[in-house]
Amino acid sequence: ETAHPALELRGVSSAYGETQVLRDVSIAVPPGSVTALIGPNGAGKTTSLRVASGLVKPTSGEVLLHGQPVTGWSPHRLAGRGLCHVPEGRGVYRNLTVEENLTMMSPPGSVAEGIEKATATFPILGDRLKQKAGTLSGGEQQMLSLSAAYLRKPTIVLVDEPSLGLAPIIVDLVFDFLKTLKAEGIALLLVDQYALRTLSIADTAYVLRRGQIAYTGSAQELLQGDMFEQYIGEG
Ligand code: ATP
Repeated sequence: ETAHPALELRGVSSAYGETQVLRDVSIAVPPGSVTALIGPNGAGKTTSLRVASGLVKPTSGEVLLHGQPVTGWSPHRLAGRGLCHVPEGRGVYRNLTVEENLTMMSPPGSVAEGIEKATATFPILGDRLKQKAGTLSGGEQQMLSLSAAYLRKPTIVLVDEPSLGLAPIIVDLVFDFLKTLKAEGIALLLVDQYALRTLSIADTAYVLRRGQIAYTGSAQELLQGDMFEQYIGEG
């Protein structure tokens, strides 16, 4: 028997009020692999992650975590089962220090270990421990919010636009970090504006267009084939 996907959206539709945003979206993220979710602005990528992490309830369809139906579960309960959502635009507490943010991300009893691990991964955070998160640069805030993906010991991490607005050298750091997560056996669902870069570290790719899945398949094939132009070339 094959293992269940770490995460699955099965026929998910979703709406904000009257506006339907997702139509019959099915995405499966196999354990320990990287799945890319790409597509133009407004296609529904962020909404798909929000459905997966319990922030938005689907109007129909199912969410499964390691094969278990979890549709309608709260974000907190899903987090307790190993799902970590690193949201777009830096999921940090701006008025708390870096140290306090890392403390909140670490499981009780392993705070010191968590701070050590995060500062070993991103040394700049070590220099900023006593600084309020809101005063960090965009890149530093992104490193801080990505630290949750390590410290909470998740099995599946959803990352929304991890390189948005970052300098190229920081983007390199962030992608190295994502590769480390994969090497540790953590499944990743990655939304990014840099389609090429994201596809190059992904195993499977999904393209969303106007709330519907337009492509499902190998990330390499999407990168190499004519399909790339067709699906992503325009934006
Ligand atoms: P982007 O990269 O621009 O964030 P996206 O693919 O992540 O795009 P979503 O953020 O999921 O797309 O948005 C999909 C559609 O839903 C857009 O048309 C957007 O305007 C709309 N939308 C998103 N959030 C809300 C909300 N809270 N209320 C109403 N409409 C929303």
